[in-house]
Amino acid sequence: MKILLVTSEALPYCKSGGLGDFIFSYSKALKRNNQDVSVILPYYNTIKYKYPETNSEIYDKFFFDMGTHNQGCTVYHHNLHGVDYYFTCMDRFERDGLYGYGDDNERFACFMMAVNTFITRHNDYDVVHCNDWQSAVLPLLLKYNPRQEIKTVLTIHNPAYQGWAKREDLYNYFRLDLGYYDSGYCRLGDSFNFLKTGIMASKKVNTVSKTHADELMYDHDGFGKIGAIIDYCKHNDFVGIVNGLDVDLWDPKTDKLLAKNYSVYDYKEGKEENKKAILKKLGIPYDFNGPMISAITRLSDQKGVDRLMSIFSSLSSYDAKFIVIGTGEKEDEFLYRSLPYKEVYFVKRYDENLAHLLYAASDFFLMPSYFEPCGTSQMISMRYGTVPIVSSVGGLYDTVKDMCMNKEATGYVFNNSDPGAFLSCFKSAMDFYKSKDPLMDTVIRNGMLGDYSWDKSCKEYLNLYSSITW
Ligand code: ADP
Repeated sequence: MKILLVTSEALPYCKSGGLGDFIFSYSKALKRNNQDVSVILPYYNTIKYKYPETNSEIYDKFFFDMGTHNQGCTVYHHNLHGVDYYFTCMDRFERDGLYGYGDDNERFACFMMAVNTFITRHNDYDVVHCNDWQSAVLPLLLKYNPRQEIKTVLTIHNPAYQGWAKREDLYNYFRLDLGYYDSGYCRLGDSFNFLKTGIMASKKVNTVSKTHADELMYDHDGFGKIGAIIDYCKHNDFVGIVNGLDVDLWDPKTDKLLAKNYSVYDYKEGKEENKKAILKKLGIPYDFNGPMISAITRLSDQKGVDRLMSIFSSLSSYDAKFIVIGTGEKEDEFLYRSLPYKEVYFVKRYDENLAHLLYAASDFFLMPSYFEPCGTSQMISMRYGTVPIVSSVGGLYDTVKDMCMNKEATGYVFNNSDPGAFLSCFKSAMDFYKSKDPLMDTVIRNGMLGDYSWDKSCKEYLNLYSSITW
């Protein structure tokens, strides 16, 4: 099958969260399964500067009608691990960041129009697989493609971000008939909604874990009623497929960013060396005997920042250290609230290299999200022998086996709907660590030996593609 993954981020070029991991690891898995896979994404400044080799081959050049003006686009091609990457180079993406600009809707509308033109000019894709709101209108544009047999799939990685625009933008940005808005096809509330459009127009829609798929369909009021739309319009065409991990990239046995590599046989020594290394790097004295706890996350409400802050005052009684790497809308509040506690060390930046070392150095990893479609960090932490403490939602529930499973357990899963559950779960984990019960070693080893590969989920996606009929 010839598959095009359409995305707003992809490792190693650019990443803000799990979508970047998904594209990189899933495209490699498709390749291993003998599929012809390409990825198309915007050419951000950061890619141009950090990966100058990406613009050495001009693959295509064209103009398209973008409402008020004719937009020029140059497409660069670069092959990585057998996967063809295409970068759409346009003036609107010549900025330092990926998202967070006032004109993001227009920028990604522009990206979708460019991809639509690209597909029309190189019209031999069997599957066009879109991801999140930044590419969600493309399946509707493709309904006008002369080749009607293109299979369209939309994966929802985070339903909280949807892309809201005005009714007129349907025409201004996409040259689509306003009837799509007036009939309700593209409308949610009083706005043109990119994600809803993708749900309506794609042949298949999925999210990234089975539990999150259920959560979405049962909570009709959640995420601006997006769940209700999925339930009414796509009930039988909506599935959950859990993400895999790039087990080559995330492997404590070979990870070059660690101070010492380790396996399930020598993880105690290995983690100790990595602990010393990160403390030295950050200038933190090794003056504690309790556990090292970490979080590596976007600091947004979704991720349970209030819950993370609720442990500050109990850290001293466990002689613990809490290191957090994060950025996001709550970063200043987090910094301010952490200042009185010498047990908390906050690294306010995005730092991929330091993240590897912290996963390896920590004893516990906190992920108390209020919702989590899949989550990547809990799988990385288990693979690195770091016990996750997670809420009972979405992919966290599907990938972490709670302590109540005893010798099968891989971490702690607390009840998300009980307001006091996180703190009491955290405290019982700390007490258990202190007790030096050998079950903790079993839990760590179970986590390290778990199967987080793409093998099963890649086959589920291929079956999803094959199940599309006309
Ligand atoms: P989401 O996609 O919702 O942000 P995930 O758990 O799926 O959450 O993916 C987060 C990914 O981004 C993980 O690989 C995590 O290590 C990484 N990450 C998040 N914040 C940072 C940061 N500040 N520095 C380095 N890596 C980060």
